[in-house]
Amino acid sequence: MARLCGYANGGGGLVRSEADFLRRAASRLSIIDPPESQNAVAEWVNQNGGRTPLGGLWRGDTLMKTLSNPRMAGLDREGNPIEGFGETVLTPDEQRALLEARTAIRGEPSQRRESFDYLLTKGIADCDVCAYDLAGSRVHAEADPGYRCLPPTELRPSCGTIRMDAGRLETAVAEEVLADMLRPGRHEELLRLQRDAQEEAERLSLHIEGAEARFAALKGVRNQMLPDAFKAAEKATKDDLAAARARLRFLEQIVSVPLADPHDVVAWWNSAPRASQRGLILVSVTKVHVLGSGGGRGHDPHKRIRIDWRTAA
Ligand SMILES: [Zn+2]
Repeated sequence: MARLCGYANGGGGLVRSEADFLRRAASRLSIIDPPESQNAVAEWVNQNGGRTPLGGLWRGDTLMKTLSNPRMAGLDREGNPIEGFGETVLTPDEQRALLEARTAIRGEPSQRRESFDYLLTKGIADCDVCAYDLAGSRVHAEADPGYRCLPPTELRPSCGTIRMDAGRLETAVAEEVLADMLRPGRHEELLRLQRDAQEEAERLSLHIEGAEARFAALKGVRNQMLPDAFKAAEKATKDDLAAARARLRFLEQIVSVPLADPHDVVAWWNSAPRASQRGLILVSVTKVHVLGSGGGRGHDPHKRIRIDWRTAA
């Protein structure tokens, strides 16, 4: 990986000439009214002799990416000061002002990047290599959202090797799910699955309503039970209730999808709320396996997924 511009090495050590143009670029990019484009500022840096660590010309996006790096302000990825880092190109306040200014210029609310609602987490997508579920995560705060197989821990020997851009993965899965609906006979099958989910949801609702009575009955026999036995029974009742509520939320997402006409569903998808989109995925899919990239970029994202379709019993 190339050296971070402005510093002699990964742990700091200011390169004065580079720090000078980076600071001036940051202050130009921090002006909201009138705003300058990233490319205009990069062009100005280039004309004044500023070069990338590899000796190349700056582009707007690479300049902005460099200035957004937490180490520009001597911070680690969590935003905490790195001990013994020495003089920094920007102060944390200068960097924050820069990021907020660019966010404002793009016309986005500033928390937008923080709150990506992942479509395929919570057990839908897993790693094809190690079969552990994928998690939603960004490489760093300014990166695009992605799915990744988490690095292994003692209790969870996942492989940690799979990673895929969230936009690419979710678009590919949505395309396959919507295409699948149009296969002959599939729509009827999905309707059947949805009806089954509806019936199970009704049964579960009754079961959940009955929880209070079950707790009361348990308390009624408390005096006749050993304390440990009572505790165990109480815990089992609580666990059962929690599992029932979780299952009901899952079923409600499936039930809420308007499946009447498969062609309507395709149009519905684009404006549907995230929870409802997840419902359609859940009614038609049991698992999305994400495969390794096999090297190289720009591969067809459909070649990186293998879907287990849900079928009616
Ligand atoms: Zn894995």
